[in-house]
Amino acid sequence: MARLELRTGSAEATREVGWALAGSLRRGDAVILTGELGAGKTTLVQGVARGLDIDDPVVSPTFTLVREYEGRLPVAHVDVYRLERVQDVVDLGLQELGTGDDVLLVEWGDVIEELLPADRLRIELTVADETDDRRIVVSATGWSWADRWGGLERALTPWSPGA
Ligand code: ADP
Ligand code: MG
Repeated sequence: MARLELRTGSAEATREVGWALAGSLRRGDAVILTGELGAGKTTLVQGVARGLDIDDPVVSPTFTLVREYEGRLPVAHVDVYRLERVQDVVDLGLQELGTGDDVLLVEWGDVIEELLPADRLRIELTVADETDDRRIVVSATGWSWADRWGGLERALTPWSPGA
C-alpha cells in the first residue's frame, strides 16, 4: 500500500491539496475521507471540485447524504457521518454509487469502506494541535493507483513536511 503524509496550515492550503489531487482522478474512482468533525474533509472536497472545474459551491451534504456535481468528471459527494451501521448504507442504496461513473468522495467512509471498490484512495485528516495545521495522510490500494501514484506524489510534494 502506497502512503504519503502531508501537512497544511490553512483551509485554503487544504483546498489546494484537493485541487492537486483532482489531476490524478479518473471516472469511477472512490475516495474515502476520514477525520473528526471540523478536520477539513469538506474543505478538501471543495478543492477537488475546483480541480474538476465544478462551478457549483460544494457544501456539506450532511443533511442530504449525497450531492452530485457535473464537472470535467461527474462527482458524487457523500457524507455518511450520521450513519452508524453498514445496513443503513445498504438500505439507502448508497453502495450502488460505487459502481458507476461518478468520482465518489465519501466523508466518514469507515462505515461503508467494506462496500466500496477495492481500488480506492483513503485520506485521513487530523487536527495537528491547537493551530490551523492539519495532518493529511493519503494512502492508495489497488492496481488502478499503481501507475498513478508517482504522479500523485509529485503533485502533492509542496505539502510534504520539509518541502
Ligand atoms: P469536516 O468536513 O471534516 O467536518 P470542514 O471542512 O467542514 O470539516 O471544516 C473544517 C473547518 O476548519 C473549516 O471551518 C475550515 O475553515 C477550518 N480550517 C482551519 N484550518 C484548516 C486546514 N488546515 N485545513 C482544513 N480546514 C481548516
Ligand atoms: Mg464535512
